[in-house]
Amino acid sequence: GLMTIERAEHGIQPRHVSANALKVIERLQDAGFKAYLVGGCIRDLLLGAQPKDFDVATSATPEEIRELFRNARLIGRRFRLAHVRFGREIIEVATFRGPGDSDVGDADRVVEKGRLTRDNVFGSEEEDAIRRDFTINALMYDPATETIRDHVGGYVDVLERRLRLIGDPVTRYREDPVRLLRAIRFMVKLDLNMEPDTAGPIVSMAPLLDGIPPARLFDEILKLFMSGKAWPTYQALVRQALWPQLFPGLFEDPASPPKLVENALKSTDRRVAEGLPVTPGFLFAAFLWQRVRAAAEAMVEDGVPPVDALAAAGEEAIVAQARKVALHRRFSTIAKEIWCMQPRFRKRRGKRALRLINERRFRAAYDFLLLRVDEEPELAELAQWWTDVQAVETDDRASMVESAP
Ligand code: ATP
Ligand code: MG
Repeated sequence: GLMTIERAEHGIQPRHVSANALKVIERLQDAGFKAYLVGGCIRDLLLGAQPKDFDVATSATPEEIRELFRNARLIGRRFRLAHVRFGREIIEVATFRGPGDSDVGDADRVVEKGRLTRDNVFGSEEEDAIRRDFTINALMYDPATETIRDHVGGYVDVLERRLRLIGDPVTRYREDPVRLLRAIRFMVKLDLNMEPDTAGPIVSMAPLLDGIPPARLFDEILKLFMSGKAWPTYQALVRQALWPQLFPGLFEDPASPPKLVENALKSTDRRVAEGLPVTPGFLFAAFLWQRVRAAAEAMVEDGVPPVDALAAAGEEAIVAQARKVALHRRFSTIAKEIWCMQPRFRKRRGKRALRLINERRFRAAYDFLLLRVDEEPELAELAQWWTDVQAVETDDRASMVESAP
């Protein structure tokens, strides 16, 4: 049943909410529709975190939304969502959905002989809450009355920092196995305790990830590893037997991954904390490095030049990995550039070295070289030289590369 929580209790105020989202809700409500803020933003406000975006759920159909807002665009293959644009901010407005409609991306959905009709796509407010994944993600907020509307007990769960799937966990994981990964993501990112029934089936259901398209898994991996908690996320994925589903056969014992991988994950987290840019290309370069390096070394023994060997071995590793998790091309390119630059660090003399510093991928490749030192101590002197050569004035740089070993 519906529980409402008053402002005096929950403490959220309209001024914490995007003014544009409030405008959208007001206009929908004035036109006689139900409209509420929904999903992650309320959870984040209650936890004292800054919401990434403010989503609206409404009883109005997409067509009705479009009639109310000149700045609305219907999106998705079946135009089930509206984006209402205000300058750079986009408010996502979704019609309440029923149980027949999960959140699985449009492209992945099997529409049974066109039987997915309007009637079973759209649903009531309560159905829309219940079809969501976790109770903490199903809260709605009505700015007009400043109340939270809770159909699933999510409010208490937020207060008690509990992550709980709505409904029967085994059924909900089977319905959409990506929820296995989402469970890890919210637990780690928001520092929540997983309720035992939600945690229990994960290990045994992990193989269901086999059926998920590699492109969708990549989207989820991005959110898992780029949100500032990459290292604890990795450890949780290993504990829950999910890691080998995503990256099979990479490390002998995933519980103690190569030092370089641990360092890459930790340095990603440090950079996120400092507001520095991070790229999944760098992490993938670290994940696949052992495999790429071993294959490249074998080719070098057969007389292939090192850079060519790394390019070939790298391509092979990326193609193999893409059967599980498809790395977007622009990121796999970065990984390959990082690998192929590694042997070039050995050549320090002359103009070649100076040119390397100015290459686009130098910084990432140099950071990668630093990470390698832990496992290959013989690289320490080389890494230090590249650190020094960047620190000195341009004139001194020229003399450094002249006298380089
Ligand atoms: P974040 O702040 O990390 O984006 P979020 O809660 O907004 O977290 P999204 O992935 O953006 O998460 O999804 C928005 C909302 O849609 C969720 O809060 C949840 O209610 C619902 N949702 C998303 N994915 C699923 C899913 N696989 N199954 C059920 N509901 C989902
Ligand atoms: Mg979101």
